[in-house]
Amino acid sequence: MRLLLGTKNSNKIREIKAICTEFLDLELLTFSECPFSDVLEDGETFEENARKKAQQICVQTGLPVLAEDSGLEVYALGGAPGVHSARFAGERKDDHANIEKLLALLKDSPDRRARFRCVAVLVWPNGDELISEGVLSGQIALAPRGTAGFGYDPIFIPDGYTQTLAELGSQVKNQISHRRRALEGLMRQLQQRLSAGHLHREKGTEGQGA
Ligand code: IMP
Repeated sequence: MRLLLGTKNSNKIREIKAICTEFLDLELLTFSECPFSDVLEDGETFEENARKKAQQICVQTGLPVLAEDSGLEVYALGGAPGVHSARFAGERKDDHANIEKLLALLKDSPDRRARFRCVAVLVWPNGDELISEGVLSGQIALAPRGTAGFGYDPIFIPDGYTQTLAELGSQVKNQISHRRRALEGLMRQLQQRLSAGHLHREKGTEGQGA
């Protein structure tokens, strides 16, 4: 089965491919094989943004599209940066500046609880949709540690661990992350659909395997 990944973020593409192919034999296309234009992420929730990306890229390309929206919610900041995680310190989407801003805001806070959230949506050209959410709870570290991953990984310590996601590395992260949990839910729903015979084929792929 062919799906187009509705993101141009190479870190996300790497993680999504590693996770999804654990569950199903999928051909995952990216924007380099099937170009699409950027979608304005102006929703107020992860779900709104994920659905908007999946639907608009599906209309642009005519392919089934898997899109996700994700971010970090910090309790002491009332859930910020949330859907604004990528642009927390400005339009440049600078991971380093975002981390510096967050650490400065939490400087005097004893409450360092936070959670990553991810909503993944799969949309077909006929309008059918699957949706799944994943959460990873943890704490914000006092200073960045580690070099793996992206975004806020160097300052996020998952519950049950002492290292940050950037120290734990991609193998551990891909087993426990918010993205893993959202995509695992989505892949399980997709497996059920496929085994129940509710298969959505692209035009011209009749007769080919799933
Ligand atoms: P968007 O989903 O492309 O709007 O961007 C999500 C933003 O949230 C990223 O740019 C990161 O700043 C942050 N984020 C989402 N997922 C992760 C993750 O797995 N690790 C670290 N930061 C993340």
